[in-house]
Amino acid sequence: MGEDARVKPSPFTYHRPEGVEEALAVLADVGADGKVLAGGQSLLPILSMRLAAPGHVVDINRLSDLSYVRTDADGVRVGALARHAAVERNEQAARVQPLLRHALRLVAHPTIRNRGTTVGSLAHADPSGEMTAVLAVLGGTVSIASAAPGRAGRREVAAADFFLGPLESAIGAGDLAVEAFFPAAPAGSGSAFVEVARRHGDYAVCGVAAVVAPAGDRVHARLGYVSMGPTPAISKIDMPVPADPASPRSWNEAAEGAVGSLEPEGDIHATADYRLHLAGVLTARALAQAWSASGAGRDEEAA
Ligand SMILES: Cc1cc2nc3c(=O)[nH]c(=O)nc-3n(C[C@H](O)[C@H](O)[C@H](O)COP(=O)(O)OP(=O)(O)OC[C@H]3O[C@@H](n4cnc5c(N)ncnc54)[C@H](O)[C@@H]3O)c2cc1C
Repeated sequence: MGEDARVKPSPFTYHRPEGVEEALAVLADVGADGKVLAGGQSLLPILSMRLAAPGHVVDINRLSDLSYVRTDADGVRVGALARHAAVERNEQAARVQPLLRHALRLVAHPTIRNRGTTVGSLAHADPSGEMTAVLAVLGGTVSIASAAPGRAGRREVAAADFFLGPLESAIGAGDLAVEAFFPAAPAGSGSAFVEVARRHGDYAVCGVAAVVAPAGDRVHARLGYVSMGPTPAISKIDMPVPADPASPRSWNEAAEGAVGSLEPEGDIHATADYRLHLAGVLTARALAQAWSASGAGRDEEAA
C-alpha cells in the first residue's frame, strides 16, 4: 500500500437506491458488508482513515420521502434524511421540543449541520454527540426498518435500548433507521443544553442536557450527559425548589449528587477527574437555565 492510499477508502460498490423499499432490499442483500451513507460527515472520515472497510456503501440521499420534520402535540418526528440544519430551523419543532434547537446549535459548524443528518448522528452513536443525550434525556425512540430475513418489518427502539456502546447501536446488519421521535416538552417544563468544548464546534469535553419540571414546591429534573461514558448517561433529581433557582449556585449540591454515579474516562482532552468536576459545574448551570426557561421561572421573572 502506498502512502497516499492510507487516506483513501478501500474499494467498495456504491449503491444509490431511489426509494425506501429499494434501499431496504439492497441493505438486506449486502447485510453486514454494507454501510448506509447519509450526510457522510462521520462516515467519510471513517472510510478515508480505513477504520471501516465495507464492501458496499448504500447512499440514502435520494430517499426524499425521509427528509421530513413532522410535529404534533405528541412530539417531533425526524426522518432519516432531515439535516441537522432543517431540524434546528424548524419553528414548530422548536416550540414543541425546545431542547432540539438548544442542542443542535452546539453540533459542529453550520456547514456540517447543513449536510449531517440528525438520525445519522444517532445511528453513529458517538457518546460525544449532542443528539444522543437529547434522545436519551427525553426518552425518545428510533424506528428501524429492515427487509432482512428473520427481522423484516419495522420496530421502535427506546433510547434506553438503542445506545449499546461507543459507536454501537441497536441498528444491525441490513437495518435502516428511518425516523427518530422526540417527545414533546411537558407543559410548564424548561430545558437547556450547556457544554464545554476546546473550540467552538468541536465535540464537547463534557455536555449536559437538562429538563426541569416544576411541580408546586418540588422540582423534578432529568439530565443527559455527553462525553461522560460509553453511552449517554442519565441522572434524575427530585427535590424541593431551592431558594433563588435561577442561580447556578442554588443547584450546586443537587448537581454534585447527580454526577456522583458518572464514570467518565480520561483522554488526551481531559482527565476523568476534570470531566467529573466539569459535569458538576455544568449541571448546576444547566439546571438554573432550564428553570429560568420553565413556566415557573418565566412567572418569577415577570413578577
Ligand atoms: C469537523 C466535524 C465536527 C463535528 N462535530 C460534531 C459535534 O460537535 N457534535 C456532533 O454530534 N456531531 C459532530 N460531528 C458529526 C456530525 O454531526 C455528523 O453529521 C453526524 O454524526 C452523522 O450524521 P451523517 O448524516 O453525516 O451520517 P454519516 O456520516 O453518513 O453516517 C454515520 C454513521 O451512521 C450510519 N447511518 C447514518 N444514517 C443511517 C441510517 N439512517 N440508518 C442506519 N445507519 C445510518 C452510517 O452507516 C455511519 O456508520 C462533526 C463532524 C465533523 C466532520
